[in-house]
This record gives sequence, structure tokens and C-alpha cells, in this order.
Amino acid sequence: MSPLNEPSFRQSVDLMFNRAVALMDLSPGLEEKIRVCNSTYTVRFGVRLRGKIETFTGYRSVHSEHMEPVKGGIRYALSVSQDEVEALAALMTYKCALVETPFGGSKGGLCIDPRAWDDHELEQITRRFAYELIKRDLINPAQNVPAPDMGTGEREMAWIADQYARMNTTDINARACVTGKPPHAGGIQGRVEATGRGVQYALREFFRHPDDRAKAGLSGDLDGKRVVVQGLGNVGYHAAKFLSEEDGAIITAIIERDGALVRDGGLDVEAVRQWIARHGSVRGYPDAELVEDGASVLEKACDILIPAAMEGVIHLGNAERIAAPLIIEAANGPITFGADEILRRKGAVIIPDMYANAGGVTVSYFEWVKNLSHIRFGRMQRRAEEARSRLIVEELERLSADKGLGWELAPDFKDRFMRGSDELELVRSGLDDTMRTAYQAMREVWHGRQDVQDLRVAAYIVAISRVAATYRSKGL
Ligand code: GLU
Repeated sequence: MSPLNEPSFRQSVDLMFNRAVALMDLSPGLEEKIRVCNSTYTVRFGVRLRGKIETFTGYRSVHSEHMEPVKGGIRYALSVSQDEVEALAALMTYKCALVETPFGGSKGGLCIDPRAWDDHELEQITRRFAYELIKRDLINPAQNVPAPDMGTGEREMAWIADQYARMNTTDINARACVTGKPPHAGGIQGRVEATGRGVQYALREFFRHPDDRAKAGLSGDLDGKRVVVQGLGNVGYHAAKFLSEEDGAIITAIIERDGALVRDGGLDVEAVRQWIARHGSVRGYPDAELVEDGASVLEKACDILIPAAMEGVIHLGNAERIAAPLIIEAANGPITFGADEILRRKGAVIIPDMYANAGGVTVSYFEWVKNLSHIRFGRMQRRAEEARSRLIVEELERLSADKGLGWELAPDFKDRFMRGSDELELVRSGLDDTMRTAYQAMREVWHGRQDVQDLRVAAYIVAISRVAATYRSKGL
């Protein structure tokens, strides 16, 4: 963390918001209404564990209800505080508006080290926390829909969904009370990889625009680009894996909590991930140099820096030494307000969190819709695709027969062509489309307005305008 006295995470988000609204023409009072966090519920509950009662503190913050349900993950970490969940809830409001998922913003957290408890204990703790939130409609398919975040995943979401179903036996939409569930418990294919996949799609879209990459002094595409990743959790792992395996990027360093692995020729992301799973640490990994002071590797020369761990890792204390010309915020709030100013002055391009990591909530939206529609996601589209393909094949065959051309489609091509997209393909193409469209919206403001110098302000302007438009049309 920053050795210097910097604004809190919450204040940092507000300061970024203020930078944007200074360039906007919002009606008096509306700006304040959008900025403030509507409510934060704090709960302290006890669970009997290992022969004694342990007390836990949790939060669910609702930033904006301009659309309902409100949406945002539940985080399990020792860093969780009211300030943190409020900052994260605010970012959810802007993120959802930017990628046009019809949700308000919320976030939850439990102050806990999840590694300190076994599976059964975590289940008891999670069910109890969920119970407290469900009782107050802070988990509800129509009002507030959590999802995974740092320290939680499919398993916790399945417990929460089950807890809700037990307490609401007549709610036919019970499954939609939480997203990020395992596919066999009402989840959707591609949700686990979604945030990392979104980071990949965001970078691909950025590199499609020569003017944009030129602003970062970069050319060409992702092939051969040197990438430093901080955090090999769900987001960092998937982003690094896809970028290296599918786009030819070279992962030159992976920074973890207990040190960094560096290899200029490129790290094998899958092998590192498996090493960490087996040994609980990056230490001892054979095919790389270990740097004890992991955070110092954020300053390593590279083309793209991907902070995918947590907030505030690039701060006044190290911003000046960050060498990357392009930073994509896979984590929420990894760059403090002060550091952001320094980096912009240095000419770095920052692809902001509210866009960069929006893949998670985008696919959450698909899951929620799937749950509410009670039909396999994309079933209708698939049927339509199949019918259209069949028409084309039949027409080709008829033409060939009529004209005696003797054309014949190879049977495996015919099969593949006539088979509609499956759920995973639909999720990925929907996500890709969302990331492209949101980028275009930011880009229009970034390039179209003299007074907008960076993508973060552009993203805030797009998001705040949309929230403001909702308030204007529905009234307060
Ligand atoms: N926790 C993720 C985020 O910060 C996902 C939220 C969601 O899917 O609702 O965006």
C-alpha cells in the first residue's frame, strides 16, 4: 500500500467521479444524488466453530437503485471495510451503465481470511451471512443479486442460492437471486472465465484502433507484446492464459502475494497456476527467477501491465516508476487517484476498471436472464440459426441438382454449419459484442471532445450520462 497519506478508496472513486462531472452539465443536485451511496447495511453475526462462537462482520452496500435489481459481488477478504464496499458498489453502478446491463450498483463483503477455514466451516459462515442478507431483501432476484468477487466463487454462490431457495420455497425465480453459480446449479457456461475473457476482448478491441495504440506508443497487435500480470486469481489467470495461448502475448512476469516470477522469454501460465495450487505459493517454481519483493516488479519494463489483484497497488509511492505505457485495470481500483494523475502526466494509457473488468457482470446478466426465462440460454437463437443454415444448405443442394453441377458439401462441414451455437459460444460472442460496443461509446467521447484526455473520464461521462438519463425519465 501507499506509504503516503492518500485518499481512501471511496474518496478516490469520488474524486474520479468529480473530474468527470466537472466536464458535464448535470442539473443541480443530480450530481450529488448520483455520487452518494444510498445505503450500507452492516451485520455482525456469530457462528459456533471449533467449540467457540466466532463473530464475523459483513456488509452489503447499495450505491444506486436507478435500476433494480442492484448488482455486485460479495468479497471475502481481511481488507473488507465499509469504505471498500462503498467504493466497489459505486464502481458497479458505473460499470453496469457503461456495458448496459440493466442493474443498479451494489457490493458486499465479509471481513474474513477464507484460507483460515475449512470447506464445511465456510459453508456455515456463508449460509449464516446469506441468511442475514436474505432477511432484509439484500439478496433477492428482483432487488439485489450478488455474484462472486475476491475470495468467493461458484461454491459460495451455490450455497447462497440454496439458502435463498430454502427461505423462499414459493419463489419460482429463486435461482436468479445470485449469479456465478456452477452450471449444474443454474449457472451459465463461461461465467468463471468471463472477467478474464473480457480483459482479453478489451485489449483486442483497443489494439484494433491504430490511433489508440499509438497514444500508448504501441503498434501492431497483441502478438509478441510483453505483459506483466499482478495476481493469478480467477481474473488474472484467465486473462494471462487467453492472452498468451490465443493472442501470442508473452507473460514476462507474474506477481503474487509472496513474490514474483520473472521470465523474459515468457511464463507458462497454466504451469504456474498448477504450481500455486499444489504448493500454495510461487516459491520454488523451477522455470523462472523469483523476485522476493513482488510489488517492485510492477515497475518492470513491459508493453502492458495488468493489475488483477486488488485496489490501491499503484499509488503515489510507486506511480512515477511504473514503466508500462499501457495499463489495463483488471482489478477494481488498482490505481489511486493521485497515481492516476502521475501516470497520465507521463503519457501512459489506462484502460479503466469499470470497462476492463465488466466481463463478469455482463455474463452475470446472461445468467440472470437465463434463470428468469427458465429456458436454456440461447435455445431460441440456436433453433433460428439451425433453421437458417438448413435453408442455405437445401438451397445449395437444389441449385447443384438443378444445374447438374454435382456439388456436394463435405459431411463434417455440413454438420458443423447446421449445428447452431452452443451456450458457451453464445456467451462468448455476446460478451465480445458488449465489450466492443462499450469501447466504442468511451472512444467516441475520448476522441470526440477536446476537454477529455483519457479513457477513464470518458468512461465516467458515458456511465454518468446514462444514470442521469434514467433518473430524468423516471423522476426521483
Ligand atoms: N464481482 C464482479 C465485479 O466486480 C462481478 C459482479 C457481478 O457479476 O455482479 O464486477
